Formats: sequence, C-alpha cells, structure tokens
Amino acid sequence: MNTDHGCAAPQPSLTVAEARRIILDAVTPAGGWACVPIRSSLGRVLARDVIAPGNVPAHDNSAMDGYAVRAEDLAADGETSLQLVGSAFAGRGFSGIVGKGQAVRIMTGGVMPVGADSVVIQEVAKVDGDRIAIPGGLRRGQNVRRAGEDLAEGAVAIPRGKRMGPAELGLAASLGLAEVSVCRRLRVAFFSTGDELASIGRPLAPGEVYDSNRYTLHGALARLGCDIIDLGVVPDRPELLEAAFRDAAASADVVLTTGGVSVGEADFIRELMQRLGEVAFWKIDIKPGRPMAFGRIGGAWMFGLPGNPVAVMVTFYQFVQDALLKIAGVDPLPARPLMPAVCAAPIRKLAGRCEFLRGRLSADGGSWRVHPAAAQGSGVLRSMSEANCFIVLDETRGDVAAGDSVPVQLFDGLV
Ligand code: AMP
Ligand code: MG
Repeated sequence: MNTDHGCAAPQPSLTVAEARRIILDAVTPAGGWACVPIRSSLGRVLARDVIAPGNVPAHDNSAMDGYAVRAEDLAADGETSLQLVGSAFAGRGFSGIVGKGQAVRIMTGGVMPVGADSVVIQEVAKVDGDRIAIPGGLRRGQNVRRAGEDLAEGAVAIPRGKRMGPAELGLAASLGLAEVSVCRRLRVAFFSTGDELASIGRPLAPGEVYDSNRYTLHGALARLGCDIIDLGVVPDRPELLEAAFRDAAASADVVLTTGGVSVGEADFIRELMQRLGEVAFWKIDIKPGRPMAFGRIGGAWMFGLPGNPVAVMVTFYQFVQDALLKIAGVDPLPARPLMPAVCAAPIRKLAGRCEFLRGRLSADGGSWRVHPAAAQGSGVLRSMSEANCFIVLDETRGDVAAGDSVPVQLFDGLV
C-alpha cells in the first residue's frame, strides 16, 4: 500500500470511483471456513462450490397434466385412438410398461412410465371410457422434463464466493444436501471517538450528543452477517485511542472507527494511526464524508470514517460494505445498480465532488420521480430514515433543474 500521504505531504484528493477501486484491489479474503446446516447458511459466503450429487430432476417427468404416450404411435395428422392402461401421479409412478397403442394418465411431476416418451396435455385429449382420442401434430419429447435438465450430476450448482440467499438454500435442499461449507464470519471491531459523545442510558450533559454511529454501524454490520466487537466510545485522548486501536486490531479482521478524521482535531489520531499501522489518509471528492482513512493495523484492515452520522452511512455503503464482502470471501463483487429518475425539485450543486443526496423515490405514471429531502445536513439522520434512495450526482455534474433526469441508488438491497 502507498502510505506516502503522511501529515506533512499534501493530501491527495480521490474520486469516489478511484477510492473504491484502491480499496477493493487492496483487500483480500480473510480465509477460514466451516460446515453449517443449510438453514444457518443464510447470508454466509460459500467457501466451496456446491456440486450436484445427482441429476436434477432425478427422473424424466411430466411438465403438464395429461397423458404419457409413445410419439411413434400417433398419426402425423388426424386423430389416434389409444388405450388407457394406468396412471402416474407425482410421487406414485406407473409400474408397467407402455406398449404399442397404449397411454397412461400422468400428472405434473409424475415420473415418465417406461415406454412413453411424450406427454399430450389433457385439454386436447378426448376421453371415452378406457379409450382416448389424441389429435395429430405431437412432437417427440413434448412436455417432458428430462433427468438432469436443470442440473446434471457433477455440475457446479452454486459457485464458491456466492452469498447464500433464499434461492440458494432451496437449491442446496433440492440436491438433498444437509450442510454447506461457508467462509468464516468476519470479525469487525469498532469504536466511536469524541469527547462530546454520551452513551445512551443517561441524560446529556451540556454540549454532549448521544453516540448514534455505533448503532447505525451495528445495524449495517449485523445485516452483513459479521461478528461485531463493540469497543464503545473512546475519548479524544491519544493513550486511550492507542489502546483501543491495539485492542481492536488484535481481535478483529477489520477495524472501523468514526470521528476524529477531520482537519484540525484529527492530527494526533492521524499520527497515531500511521505510527501503529500503514494507513493512508484521503480527501475524497465526496459529499458528505470527504475525509477518510484506509489501511492496515497489525493483521487487520482499518477504515477511519468521518464522524457525522450521515457521512458515516454514506462512506460505509460506498466504500466499506463491498470491501467487507470481498474480505468475507464474496467474488466477484456485484456492481452497484443505478436507475434514472425524474428529479422533482432543483438541486444546487458545484462541480468537483460526487454528492449523495437523500431522496424519496415514488412511481409517477410509467416513470419514477425522486424528491430530494429538504434537510441534507450531514448530521441529519432523520432524513436518512425518511429517504429510500441516494440521488447520486457525480463529480462533473452541476446544478440540477426540476424535471432533469438523475441517477438514484436504491436503499433496498443496499442498506
Ligand atoms: P468529528 O469528525 O469527530 O469532528 O465529528 C463530526 C461531527 O459528528 C461532530 O458534530 C460530532 O459531534 C459528530 N459525531 C461524531 N461521532 C459521532 C457519533 N458517534 N454519534 C453521533 N454524532 C457523532
Ligand atoms: Mg470528534
């Protein structure tokens, strides 16, 4: 890592994309894995490919309710009369063999009887006692799901590096697997810094604010499935901060801090971080959240986030979340989707920084409309709670007029 950006050196200013790329290129998977029952694998990252131990589906079976027939028995055009000799229901097959001129009643999922190769849907068959009349024009193999059609025995059903979601739990179960191998949970230690911070549970003294960052970060990390080591509030005192850093780095894969990285007050924290590890301080062309630190302390990755509560959330979701996923074993990383929306109000913006504004997206006829929140201050958590997306105005963008198209990043699936 390049750590030339010490206190004396001029701070580089990075674009959001540059900072993301540097971080994502630098971090590497932490390693370690365990076998867990499939229910417990929700949200975990697969450490090994899940291989299909058999064909899915296991047998040729019917895709429709109808009649299993031999295609060669049927006239190319005109009706054919066949004799009904039995039935095959899902889970209860037909034990005989379908001979020349015969058919078997079959339901969706029923195993194809020996001898039959196609299914005629019930809607076109005319039944009369034990005879059925079938129109011509049937294609061999019609309405039959082949064994191994979804997944052949030995194929990769779920690749390593995939995060287990509901579909993957079901897929593993459909293969008859009771357990999967998942990467070890990441251990993430964090603490808040600031002499003005009070922990909840006691009244505020003059000048104090409650420490909210620990709670937003707790929520964000818990959603990612991390093991969380909460080291509380650390006052702005070098010896206490040093002890907290050492403690955090010794016990965690990743250390997160908030506060104390802005110019002025931050100087000794910067010195401390650089003395204890290899940490680069960046000015990022982002609003909110311009100052940020990234690097390594001991064996742990380290992110020094800003203090303002909204800046913490913005920098966490833009820089930290994907890095945590990569360290946790996710590969490749999903791209962050943006969707266009019509901006309902003008936004004043200077080119130069990428701004993440809180917005409320709503359907408007056939298109999407986004209202920027009135209060965009970097300490206003309420508007973060009321918003459902970020309006993302990149570094080059200037003022936005009402009616302009703007890209938005949905909170759903992100936060
Ligand atoms: P700092 O970067 O330490 O100067 O903090 C910037 C602003 O964020 C200050 O107004 C702090 O009071 C506020 N702040 C810092 N940490 C927290 C926290 N953990 N919870 C709530 N507000 C905070
Ligand atoms: Mg502070």
